[in-house]
Amino acid sequence: MARLVLKFGGTSVADLERIKTVARHVKREVDAGNEVAVVVSAMAGKTNELVGWVRDMPTVAGANAPIYDAREYDAVVASGEQVTSGLLAIALQSMGVDARSWHGWQIPLRTDAAHGAARIEAVDADRLIERISGGQVAVIAGFQGISPDGRIATLGRGGSDTSAVAIAAAIHADRCDIYTDVDGVYTTDPRVASRAQRMEKIAFEEMLEMASLGAKVLQVRSVELAMVHGVRVFVRSSFDDPDAPALQAGSPVGTLICDEDEIMEQQVVTGIAFSRDEAQISLRRVKDRPGVAASVFGPLAQAGINVDMIVQIISADDASTDITFTLPEGDYDKALGILQDPSVGIEYDAVGGSKDVVKVSVIGIGMRSHAGVAADAFRALSEKNINIRAITTSEIKISVLIDAAYTELAVRTLHSLYDLDAAS
Ligand code: ADP
Ligand code: ASP
Ligand code: MG
Repeated sequence: MARLVLKFGGTSVADLERIKTVARHVKREVDAGNEVAVVVSAMAGKTNELVGWVRDMPTVAGANAPIYDAREYDAVVASGEQVTSGLLAIALQSMGVDARSWHGWQIPLRTDAAHGAARIEAVDADRLIERISGGQVAVIAGFQGISPDGRIATLGRGGSDTSAVAIAAAIHADRCDIYTDVDGVYTTDPRVASRAQRMEKIAFEEMLEMASLGAKVLQVRSVELAMVHGVRVFVRSSFDDPDAPALQAGSPVGTLICDEDEIMEQQVVTGIAFSRDEAQISLRRVKDRPGVAASVFGPLAQAGINVDMIVQIISADDASTDITFTLPEGDYDKALGILQDPSVGIEYDAVGGSKDVVKVSVIGIGMRSHAGVAADAFRALSEKNINIRAITTSEIKISVLIDAAYTELAVRTLHSLYDLDAAS
């Protein structure tokens, strides 16, 4: 017998038929004698629809007024998960499985006050443990908790993964199964490179880089939590037949996220990730003097804008410099507004940028001890005539910013370069 958390994402609960299939996966684990807590997302597309409704509402007038009240945003967007938790509980009950739905506040799963992107502070799991050890399946609405002001708070997009891992840590689960629409973590997004390969195992650190550099199969925060609390996370497909013999026998296909030393053979490069949520801004001929970078990035930081890659080039006359940086696409207009605001007082000749850029990253723990990985990437991209706009590196990753039109070509080129392609 084991204690398990099973998490089902949006496509896994997209309609009533899919929810019934999910119920069969849950029943299989219950029949095998396990204690089970389930975490569900909203039906596919539902959260986007709810976010759209909030954005389309009239807002408070005034230049500095917020777009909308973040507490009410949370009240609306958290509803998607509430629907699926109730529906799945009903489906389980109809199959003779004792089940009960739980909203974030009922657990309670406590968060900080950052509505819309809240962080989990504590999970008071006593009541949950009592129920599941008594044989009842807990069906938990993911993506939500309760903030210090006593209101619903959501955890940021993709946050149900984080709910699942936090609950797994709190109830001391033996494993946290993340059921999704792919059967594991691949060397790159299988929707972009058909020759991507599923990994049997991937180290927490590499998964953390993959997720933070764009592989949305797991929310970044969920990987951080799993790493800190030593939760064994297993990514698998909900599209398998729940009664398939391999699943009945407890030997599913999937990817285990685990400690580095559990992985016998370490590749130099493990995977390629990419993020389309990028924009680039360039300032031409900024007056060069001590403090110039602070004068540009200070106001952006104050506005809560996270700048990522930065390239600064000294111009020939030595009196000015060109500065290029990247930021999330959604902050592009806000950032341009700040840089162009005369009262901010940045002196430059011209400002411009693009939202049609993508960041492609090569990730691997083995890079720590191998030279030349970056040079190989730059050469391979140049052979395909792909221009690199900016570069950043760390111990275990290299990222390049390129034109969005070359995303697929760049990902596939790098995937082949590092021998990640599946044999055809
Ligand atoms: P869910 O709705 O179950 O949370 P997501 O859409 O958030 O699912 O995440 C699953 C998707 O992540 C896959 O459909 C796949 O396109 C994408 N993905 C991106 N990178 C990877 C990768 N390296 N391995 C597997 N899936 C990936
Ligand atoms: N439904 C939320 C979203 O789409 C949370 C999740 O699915 O993880 O972001
Ligand atoms: Mg997801």
